[in-house]
Amino acid sequence: MARFFLTTAIDYANGDPHLGHALEKIGADAIARYRRLAGDDVHFLMGMDEHGQKVKQAADEEGVSPQAFVDRVAATFEDAWQHLDISNDQFIRTTDPAHKRGVKALIERIHEKNPDDFYEKTYEGWYCVGCELFKRENEIVDGRCVLHPTRELQWTEERNWFFRLTRYQSFLERLFDERPEFLRPETRRNEILALLAQGLEDISITRSRLSWAIPFPLRSSNGEEQGTWVWFDALPNYLTATGFPDKSYRELWPAQLHIIGKDITRLHCVVWPAMLQAAEIALPQQVWAHGFMTFGGERFSKSAGVAFSLQEAIDRHGADALRYFLLREIPFDGDGDFSWERFDERYNAELANAWGNLASRAIAMVEKYRDGVVPSGERTPLDQADLAELVEYHAALDGSRGYFLQEGIKRALASVGRGNEYVQSSQPWALAKDESKRAQLDDVLSAVIRALARQCVLLHPFVPAKTEELWRQLGAPGRVSDQRFDGLAGLDAAGWKVRKGASLFPRTPNER
Ligand SMILES: [Zn+2]
Repeated sequence: MARFFLTTAIDYANGDPHLGHALEKIGADAIARYRRLAGDDVHFLMGMDEHGQKVKQAADEEGVSPQAFVDRVAATFEDAWQHLDISNDQFIRTTDPAHKRGVKALIERIHEKNPDDFYEKTYEGWYCVGCELFKRENEIVDGRCVLHPTRELQWTEERNWFFRLTRYQSFLERLFDERPEFLRPETRRNEILALLAQGLEDISITRSRLSWAIPFPLRSSNGEEQGTWVWFDALPNYLTATGFPDKSYRELWPAQLHIIGKDITRLHCVVWPAMLQAAEIALPQQVWAHGFMTFGGERFSKSAGVAFSLQEAIDRHGADALRYFLLREIPFDGDGDFSWERFDERYNAELANAWGNLASRAIAMVEKYRDGVVPSGERTPLDQADLAELVEYHAALDGSRGYFLQEGIKRALASVGRGNEYVQSSQPWALAKDESKRAQLDDVLSAVIRALARQCVLLHPFVPAKTEELWRQLGAPGRVSDQRFDGLAGLDAAGWKVRKGASLFPRTPNER
């Protein structure tokens, strides 16, 4: 069984989970579930990034300790991911003792293997607390960070530890040359190539006066203990989650896939590989950078302050419908806009009318014409068309070109469209009136139930709970999550006892 270790970005613990966080987690979950159905041994990691000045500030404002503050925030995030049926196997927090131990070991290992990679220097520049980064001239507009226009930049001067990133310039150029798949999609790769072409700069990796941080293990020349820069603490979570520095970490590491937002590719594709190379540890296989979701043109983020909660979006039509809508509407390789109107439209047209109706009609016909037992029947053109389209479905989702989740859903949804057309054109209600057409009716009923069962498997990565529900209603054995794609060609529904249940996607005229 192939190991597939995938990760999402760890969310920064200074606010509540919003729809922007959810898009990434739902997308990653769809990939994790897809890999399980493909037969891989999946390990799916998520977590929280809990150190740094912003957390300290937010805790101070509430008058609680930073640890109490992040404990509460982490619980809120974990709760949201449960509501969205996210199937992560592990949830790491950077305040976990095991993580802190791993970060310390990683820094010490870099120092041992490449002692020149760390040096002390007095540094001054404009510092953005939003990014926790010193900003370059071209990242500042009107005296503000382009990513955080509501925050004041701070002129900061201090003596810090630096990481000699410049030493990894040619290593990174070679990496991007030899492994074009290392960062996808292509547009994101081109951005990093442009950045490398400009030339790298060494980076400051400690902060003095930073109390809410992992202590940097090397002592400064003046004896001061400094705090580790949040990103030098956060990036290693993917590694410390595997138990590093214990030798058994190699059972999981290297990760097959890091899923991140397009704004943090520099950290994941320049800083992180350089850190690993400095420690002589294998690099992850691939980084996938998704785009952003906007609402009325505004990015979802705490600082941009989008005005509704994740729970409100879940309550609209349920968690599965939200998962479906986000991945159907927003391309996972680019940007897209969220709107309630589109959500209602897709919910009603695609889930309630197209798919929900096909399911309830088919189940009702098996009950009415065959006492609820799915007859055996010949393979039909409906089976052939579905199986032929599997090639495109897998090409969109198996990572060979990237992760085109929207395309994967479209391919699965095409089977729903074909199923409805097939029912319409074969007129089972007419066949039922003519006893001489009995075998023909058997063929039609069994073909439609097989199609619904395949749809359960193909749509399971996107709508996990509703596909399990439909699977039960079809009378199929076991669970959808235990099925494998390579069993689809031989799938046979003969003898299944259908059980009509509640409507899968009740129409809810939710006016707003
Ligand atoms: Zn910023």
